[in-house]
Amino acid sequence: MRILKFGGTSLSNSKKFLEVSKIIEKKFKNDNIAIVLSAPAKITNYLEQINKNITFNKNSKNIFQKIETIFYELSNGINKQQNNFPNNNINKYITNTFDDLKNKIKKIKLLNDNSKKLFSEIISKGEIISIKIMQQLLISKNYLTFYIDPIKNIVTNNDYFESDVNISKTKKNIQKIKIPNKHIILMPGFIAGNKNHELVTLGRNGSDYSAAILAVCLNAKVCEIWTDVDGIYTSDPKIIPTAKLLKSISYQEAIELSSFGAKILHPKTILPLFKSNIKCIIKNTYFPEKTGTIIQNIFEEQSTNIKGITYLNNIVNIVIKINIFKNINFIIEKIFSIFLNFDIQILFHVTSYLENKIYFYIIQKYKDQIKNILKKKLQKELIYDIINIINIDQTLKLINIVGNNINNNINVQKKIFLSLKNTNLNIISTNTTFSKNSFIIITNNNNIHENIKIIHNKLFYKINIIEIFLIGIGGVAKALLKQIQKQSQILKNKNIIFKICSISNSKKMLINLDGINLITWKEQFHTTHKKFCIKKIIKYAKNISLFNPVIIDCTASQEIANFYYDILKNNINIVTPNKKANTNTWKEYANIRNIAIKKNKKFFYETNVSAGLPIIKTLKNLFDSGDELISFEGILSGSLSFIFGKLEEGLSISEATIMAKKLGFTEPNPKDDLSGLDVARKLLILARESGYKLELEDIKIIPILPKYMLKIKDKNTFISELSKLNEYFYNKIKLAKKYKKVLRFIGTIKKGGLCKVELTEVDKKNPLYNVKNGENALIIYSKYYQPIPLVLKGYGAGNNVTAAGIFSDLLQLLP
Ligand code: ADP
Ligand code: ASP
Ligand code: MG
Repeated sequence: MRILKFGGTSLSNSKKFLEVSKIIEKKFKNDNIAIVLSAPAKITNYLEQINKNITFNKNSKNIFQKIETIFYELSNGINKQQNNFPNNNINKYITNTFDDLKNKIKKIKLLNDNSKKLFSEIISKGEIISIKIMQQLLISKNYLTFYIDPIKNIVTNNDYFESDVNISKTKKNIQKIKIPNKHIILMPGFIAGNKNHELVTLGRNGSDYSAAILAVCLNAKVCEIWTDVDGIYTSDPKIIPTAKLLKSISYQEAIELSSFGAKILHPKTILPLFKSNIKCIIKNTYFPEKTGTIIQNIFEEQSTNIKGITYLNNIVNIVIKINIFKNINFIIEKIFSIFLNFDIQILFHVTSYLENKIYFYIIQKYKDQIKNILKKKLQKELIYDIINIINIDQTLKLINIVGNNINNNINVQKKIFLSLKNTNLNIISTNTTFSKNSFIIITNNNNIHENIKIIHNKLFYKINIIEIFLIGIGGVAKALLKQIQKQSQILKNKNIIFKICSISNSKKMLINLDGINLITWKEQFHTTHKKFCIKKIIKYAKNISLFNPVIIDCTASQEIANFYYDILKNNINIVTPNKKANTNTWKEYANIRNIAIKKNKKFFYETNVSAGLPIIKTLKNLFDSGDELISFEGILSGSLSFIFGKLEEGLSISEATIMAKKLGFTEPNPKDDLSGLDVARKLLILARESGYKLELEDIKIIPILPKYMLKIKDKNTFISELSKLNEYFYNKIKLAKKYKKVLRFIGTIKKGGLCKVELTEVDKKNPLYNVKNGENALIIYSKYYQPIPLVLKGYGAGNNVTAAGIFSDLLQLLP
């Protein structure tokens, strides 16, 4: 005997019903089979909505209409494909069923009927009609069918909802039934009967449970659960698209996964199968040939691996403080028996003997009910102040990491703790003693999907993937792509993959989430017609299936910088040489940092100052370890270092500027360099890193260009105007030389955060005397570094060094 249970997702329309009937036919060729069906997808949700506003009004009328339409379409659709299908009868049956319900609802107030009884009748109608349609479909295909009435045969306690089945009584009932040979057995899922033979239901998703009960009662070898995914995954594949399919898991693991949120199985399904040693197989109705997941006895030594991660959204804790020191265990036992008697599941509990408190974690919907019961049953203890019930109104979330015996394996626990390191979970409690197969984390974070994704990928993947969305394709970006392409094999050997998912300039974008080929990207970009849109890039990059997405902003654009807040908010990292965001107002500067911390995302900008020279990291490390800035002096502009070096060699300022631009040393518009604005921005960034709350206007620039030149917008006009200054600079250099000095464009930060940018004559004694040819030098006097300062020196501009700085930031994104 084989049980086949088809869920609502397998029965949502006529096409799927016909597919299911084909699977049934195929299985019936080799085996005796019993079929358990759910209601078509969404039907039970609608029926539940009717229950919520039990009066017959416009709203419930609409819902009824929706439900009836689904069923009519279902029946009519089958009729088109299947000869002899009694469509008219079925349509009549649907109409009568719902007319009858509507009448009952209209009457319920007048008669003051037992509303719970009517609720369970309403909510089960999907299953009843579902099985009726399947039965007629099989009959019209000339099969013999046999109906098992769950109300008569599946015996439960008296609860109308979430009832527990009395398996031994049910088995007796079912084994008494004389099932004729060569009949396909059919039973609606989700439904059972109480002692008075009234209809009761087994809780949402309860058809899985029905199938398990029937499997036990019919001594089946296998219970097959047919659904819309290939089997049980390491996490819900609809939320974590990188989840991996599990070929087989143990009964214990399946119980734990389903009890803590894996809605693929009703939590009560596995225990009866486990006790009777019946295999359970999860199969995909849309791809019946796939093997699915087998749940069976697995010998311990085979599996101390982590199998899955699940979560429950609405958890609360009930905290009871015990104010006496004697007989504590007696009170604890009493409290437990109250939970047990009222059938309220304690997910887990923690007893703190230090605080004399017990923390019970339960599903939120039971909170008020259990509080009232506890108040009643512990009235005496409350009056005499033996206990207090502490009110905590916080909704919590529970994450459970499941695997056979994981709690007896220190290495697995280490791995779990390491995976938590990369999240921003606010962990309220962890519990490793509740079960040897579960590692439970309680948190109050609201959106935990992103954190589960991080934990999941860390636990189940060895490979570190960074998905790159590159904006701007100037010299730096091109150099970066070359470096990534060249290094890809070496990174791969270290299990690191940099996947380029998009390349864009201000006009268009090339997108491929599988990764753009870096040998042919230029041709591909040339032929793309997709218009550039930053919002679309964010939409692609925030896709939850990505491991570690980053937007690299290789532009100098203020508009792109204005999106950084949104980018980080959408769980995307940022790496950028663009200084605009860091030189916005202090408020915006702080906002970006706050959202990055909140979302646990990285905002790296090492190349904002002096290209690849590790100045930002150095300052961060120094200040984190307690150092303080005393003063700073430096040549922060590779272009001006190059230009003033060339002036000493006899070139004119316009010639030197053109040359610097060609070599990629200048900003896109060299005016930004010569105006001193670019250096001022860098100085502002350094000052802010050092703890000064300054604005760009606070940086004093002593200009080297006449005012009218600062107003020129066009790059080429600017460069041609520059030649008018050739003689002025020639004379200035000559004068300095006379006193054995050179001209250097220097930025300084003095005590108190006084910042200045100016062209200064320096003599040989000054360490900046020899800094030229595009070199930068940063001289830091700090509490730790004095009187001899910390000096960083090296190329501070140029495509390759800037790209290398970005590369190094990317490597820092790795967990
Ligand atoms: P059915 O209608 O077949 O009963 P359900 O929606 O009740 O389907 O259950 C199937 C769904 O369970 C899947 O579509 C999936 O989104 C969800 N699910 C949750 N956790 C898991 C998991 N660990 N593995 C597979 N599916 C899961
Ligand atoms: N139809 C019910 C529900 O949607 C039972 C089930 O699908 O298993 O919860
Ligand atoms: Mg289900």
